[in-house]
Amino acid sequence: MAVKKPAAPAAKLSKKEFKALSEKLLLQPKTVWEQADAKTRAEIFALAEDYKTFMDQAKTERRAVATIRAAAEQAGFKPLGPKAKGGRYYAELAGKAIALLVLGKQPVVQGVRMIGSHIDAPRLDLKMHPLFENQDLAFLKTHYYGGIKKYQWFARPLSLIGVVCTAEGRTVEINVGDAPDDPVFTVLDLLPHLSRKSQEGKKLSEAFEAERMNLVIAGLPLEGEGNGDRIKLAVMQLLNQRYGIVEADLISAELEIVPAGNARDVGLDRALVGAYGHDDRASAFASLQAILGLKSPAAPALAVFYDKEEIGSEGMSGAQSRWIEHLVAAMLEANHEPTDYLTISRALAASKVLSADVNAALDPDYPEVHEKNNAARLGYGVTLTKYTGHGGKYGASDANAEFVAWLRGVWEKAGVTWQAAGMGKIDEGGGGTVAKFLAAYGADVVDVGPALLSMHSPFEIMHKADLWSSVQAYQAFFVAK
Ligand code: MN
Ligand code: MN
Repeated sequence: MAVKKPAAPAAKLSKKEFKALSEKLLLQPKTVWEQADAKTRAEIFALAEDYKTFMDQAKTERRAVATIRAAAEQAGFKPLGPKAKGGRYYAELAGKAIALLVLGKQPVVQGVRMIGSHIDAPRLDLKMHPLFENQDLAFLKTHYYGGIKKYQWFARPLSLIGVVCTAEGRTVEINVGDAPDDPVFTVLDLLPHLSRKSQEGKKLSEAFEAERMNLVIAGLPLEGEGNGDRIKLAVMQLLNQRYGIVEADLISAELEIVPAGNARDVGLDRALVGAYGHDDRASAFASLQAILGLKSPAAPALAVFYDKEEIGSEGMSGAQSRWIEHLVAAMLEANHEPTDYLTISRALAASKVLSADVNAALDPDYPEVHEKNNAARLGYGVTLTKYTGHGGKYGASDANAEFVAWLRGVWEKAGVTWQAAGMGKIDEGGGGTVAKFLAAYGADVVDVGPALLSMHSPFEIMHKADLWSSVQAYQAFFVAK
């Protein structure tokens, strides 16, 4: 091999040339807001108003299903079934998961455009025998659900929302704490004067114990003669009068304790929304907006709103269930296509999927947990996360480069402002989404959603522009060639 002459040194760039070359070759992160014109800025704020209303109605997975169903029916979606007509359908699973779909010009077997989000959020559930009396107060024993920092749930107003199912077949809905005149509930915390040994000397993970997370529910005794817990009996009398239930009915109940109060604007300029459950109802809301606005797409579109993501997508209403196979089979049937196993599996394998879930934005107060070159930034648009997981990518789905490249092209054409990010420093922690369960069918899957601050807290923070950008990204995905 001949020795080449060394290349002539490059000419020195002028300031203008340097700038032009940078713009051509380097990524230029931009905020959504700075690129938005007056009309778009108004849209961003209008969308956030609809979002807050949605969040106030959808504080549990069951309430989210009811809210999404109502929106779907209003937009002309019909129940999916063998005699389904019209091309716009919805289907439900046990009242805790819901799917909306729009048939396309292409057959289902050629693949579905799917967006999967989740509508469950970290919270406190009740134990099966929750009610007890102690020191002249009545309490409900709780069992936390999902990844919570326990201390965030003490000494704050809480609502009680859910259902109690009786052996006679009645389902009683309970929703107390959010209406303006409602009472709220609370988990007691120790005063600082006396918490030196019990809390302050301990590790954070040990200072607040799950078994001390009891919900104050009442304080008045039943009057009259007789032995036994008077306040507990008074509570049951009240519940019986109001809802027709007895203590045994609490065994067959799903009552969830969630932060009381509504979603709120945060900041003097109202740039942010603070709410319980942005993870992942922000992505759910954005994908709902995207599919409701879809007219006659080329590829069939499907938005699935899953339950149980926060505990590993387990159970009948989680993404590990076989529901997606059933949904695709029912889509094939509604589109008059074969519904044999081979056709279903072909349709699934040919599908493109966005796992619509949130990421963590770079926290200005804790920059050390992030790797700043690969951290999502609030306000920089929807976040694409190629892989989640922990350590050496354990538990990650890891999207294919080809699919990520296709999606980049789609967003570039549609003018979507977006960013790519991992979650935190490599060995700092980690997390997962529904992505890997859908990738198991051979579908292309990648995580896409807004980035949050204070994620998994009772008051999560999201930038309004990132929500708007998520809707843009999901819409572009549904209609892309
Ligand atoms: Mn999530
Ligand atoms: Mn989560």
